[in-house]
Amino acid sequence: GATLGVMGGGQLGRMFVHAAQRMGYFTAVLDPDASSPAGRVSHHHVQADYLDEAGLAKLASQADAITTEFENVPAQALARLAAQRFVAPAAAAVAIAQDRALEKEHFTRCGVPCAPNAVVNDEQDLARIGDDLLPGILKTARLGYDGKGQVRVRTREELRAAWDGLKRAPCVLEKMLPLAFECSVVVARGRDGAIVHLPVQHNLHRDGILAVTEVYAGNVAPDQAQRAIEATKAIAAGLQYVGVLCVEFFGLEDGSLVVNEMAPRPHNSGHWSIEGADVSQFELQVRTLAGLPLTQPRQHSPSIMLNLLGDLWFARGAEAVTPDWAAVLALPGTHLHLYGKTEARKGRKMGHLTLTGPSVEAVRAAARQACALLGLPGF
Ligand code: ATP
Ligand code: MG
Ligand code: MG
Repeated sequence: GATLGVMGGGQLGRMFVHAAQRMGYFTAVLDPDASSPAGRVSHHHVQADYLDEAGLAKLASQADAITTEFENVPAQALARLAAQRFVAPAAAAVAIAQDRALEKEHFTRCGVPCAPNAVVNDEQDLARIGDDLLPGILKTARLGYDGKGQVRVRTREELRAAWDGLKRAPCVLEKMLPLAFECSVVVARGRDGAIVHLPVQHNLHRDGILAVTEVYAGNVAPDQAQRAIEATKAIAAGLQYVGVLCVEFFGLEDGSLVVNEMAPRPHNSGHWSIEGADVSQFELQVRTLAGLPLTQPRQHSPSIMLNLLGDLWFARGAEAVTPDWAAVLALPGTHLHLYGKTEARKGRKMGHLTLTGPSVEAVRAAARQACALLGLPGF
């Protein structure tokens, strides 16, 4: 049988491996960690750094086609693999998604508006920043995630201190926008240019980390939802993208929609699709990698996803205590995912809970009860 390879062994890789194995593929995972969530469940596990030549050669020898689950996989590593195997998404697209400045240029090229922003690479750039971008958020151009690598600034003094604090790395300063809501769209694009999408996902973040995703009719006003889907398709097509791509948006109080960022892979906000749709974002990733047809996924149940962060393990004190899953699983339509991470840490994504139900009211009620049982804030 064919073997599908993935760069990165986190939870996204693990769910990719599950989807691939269900469809009869063997899997190979490259990750530096010997006990990574995906490596532990894969047929092959190459324990190597992402740029290690011997590791890359081994992955290329084991896998017929290779994708990535790790946003910051070095683009050179993908380019190296592409000399031998089919790689999707391509190194060039991943390189753009990894850099906030390049990403924003691409959005603008595609005619999709971003928050007002300016690149800060050096002292001159910093001096040129206009007061119109304040208050703002200074974000490192590369390697940020879950709100890490960003600082909120109100004044020029705070901006300078924040840039120093970020070690004067290349950054983008974004104007702080009055968000009415946040949403995201997952698309999959095949080698032939065919493109399908999941329904718009309404996202609630806490402390810069995704907390709750709600997916059902009316979660986002239809007009804004349609604009988000069209924008995501244009962004994917503009990259000649092959694979699964997620684009995050801000809905503003005046009814407008601006793009935030994109991820060149399945996304936390798309996890609900495993149980809530007939084709999940991970099956879409398998299909694009294996060159299989893409059909438009159909959502069959209103769905809500609750992220399970390591903080939950510390609700009762400094010792990690496993939450009472049995109580939650007694609620109808709950689907528990734990990623097999050995150590719980505050702010670490340990798993998620998807609730599906026969109606929006039913799924919202069950999700509220799950929050109460787990001691999570409501939504
Ligand atoms: P992710 O884990 O999604 O990759 P990240 O670290 O790349 O996160 P962003 O998505 O840029 O960070 O920002 C995290 C959150 O901070 C956003 O989802 C939003 O809630 C808030 N935020 C970011 N930029 C702005 C902005 N310009 N105006 C208002 N809020 C913002
Ligand atoms: Mg990000
Ligand atoms: Mg984000």
